[in-house]
Amino acid sequence: MTDQPESSQSQPEVHQPDHRVEADVVTTKNAMAAEPKPFQLGNSLIQPGTRAVVDIPFGKLYTHTELNIGAHVVHGKRPGPVLLITAALHGDEINGVEICRRLLRLPKINSLKGTLVVVPIVNTYGFVQQSRYLPDRRDLNRSFPGSEKGSLGSRMAWQFTDRILKKCTHVIDLHTGAIHRSNLPQVRATSKDKVSLKMAESFNAPIIIKAASRDGTMRGTANNLGIPIILYEAGEALRFDEQAIKIGVRGIMNVMHSLGMLRSVKRPEKTNSLFSKKSSWIRAEHDGIARYYYGLGQKVNQGDVLAHIYSPYSDFEVSVQATFSGIIIGRNNLPLINEGEALFHIAEVSELEEAEKTIDAISDEVDNAMPAVLGGDYGVV
Ligand SMILES: [Zn+2]
Repeated sequence: MTDQPESSQSQPEVHQPDHRVEADVVTTKNAMAAEPKPFQLGNSLIQPGTRAVVDIPFGKLYTHTELNIGAHVVHGKRPGPVLLITAALHGDEINGVEICRRLLRLPKINSLKGTLVVVPIVNTYGFVQQSRYLPDRRDLNRSFPGSEKGSLGSRMAWQFTDRILKKCTHVIDLHTGAIHRSNLPQVRATSKDKVSLKMAESFNAPIIIKAASRDGTMRGTANNLGIPIILYEAGEALRFDEQAIKIGVRGIMNVMHSLGMLRSVKRPEKTNSLFSKKSSWIRAEHDGIARYYYGLGQKVNQGDVLAHIYSPYSDFEVSVQATFSGIIIGRNNLPLINEGEALFHIAEVSELEEAEKTIDAISDEVDNAMPAVLGGDYGVV
């Protein structure tokens, strides 16, 4: 279904479950009794107890091809939070797209309280081009909150904020490392908002980075609008990372439990996430070809040799040392290094000696928790 831009005259279309989602439709028999309200997104009205895919037009290509942002809406029979899940805001960060697919196929979702709005591909331009950016080489996630008459990115950000973000009460934004860089599964949230921090703790990724949002990001706009938001960073651009995907699916379900959107179940003891208030990249002081000795999740002490960089045309070789102690939460996977290149992202944590064990324990818990459902094609509707 395609929407026209909203106007005061336009009549919302009452959404009838269409053939694409027929199998997922929840019966509406009891909906009238509780008098729940329909949920409007774009020009579509989604009835309580149903789910739909809503296409919202965001512009045209010069080929006259219309581009939409598609949103899955799962509208529960009972009122509750409106949780927005976004992925591929950077068009080449595709782990989140798979997280959305697995999440939407979980049978539990059909009996949720509140509303789930899932946008698996926010930057459709970049996704088609397998690029982080928009066609004008702008970064959509530096264009928020945007403006109605600004650049392409600014207009998209403005429309997304106005038509989707503002309709939601909580947000989880899914990202990966940039191209050739992988991230240890981690959640970022501002420490100024208690609800965001609670969501971050509930998500239960191996580590939580308390960090203020950057200018121009959707997270910053949500913070300014008072909408609690967390950002999940895991894996590498243009790659699927199975562990990152499983931690992501379980994390979203954990947050939905903590918000009261899913029925609570007795859960096994879980290991709490590590916390970090400070992280920074170790950069290359020389150009050359690198040999890396450390991977994601490993502990490093100040002075440890993390890599060597050598010249292919001389005996020149230089070591790269950790300038402070911490856990490696991001790494460059490409050994071809220009001066100043980011090599290792290290986070300071208070319980450094126990940190590797904590990360392993959380990974094991994810593997043991509903492995079939989190793993993809088993146990789904
Ligand atoms: Zn990103």
